[in-house]
Amino acid sequence: MFCQKCGKENKEGAAFCNACGAPLIPVITSSKDKVIQAKVKTKRDQIEGISQTGPILACLVGLLFLFLGFLFNFLILIFGLILLGIAIWWSSGRENERKKLENEIKELQAEME
Ligand SMILES: [Zn+2]
Repeated sequence: MFCQKCGKENKEGAAFCNACGAPLIPVITSSKDKVIQAKVKTKRDQIEGISQTGPILACLVGLLFLFLGFLFNFLILIFGLILLGIAIWWSSGRENERKKLENEIKELQAEME
């Protein structure tokens, strides 16, 4: 732990600082760190909440229309292609969102150290 008076690092559990002799009070997580930890938790929850189910479903439906389009009607095929495009765009948007949140978490954690 670090001395709150002079900032020197001391052995964990030491009662007094061996540099300046000040009594060492166990550091309770500061309120700033608590705020950061809460933010990190919120962002982690947001990441958990980003599901790829929607894009995957859109992709499957798109493939189905593509297949039907080959069998029956060219217009259905185009519709399938559009759906596939939407699915890819949707999925990459979510992926970007996830990366953005992960970067924000890294920045927040850097602030704590
Ligand atoms: Zn000290």
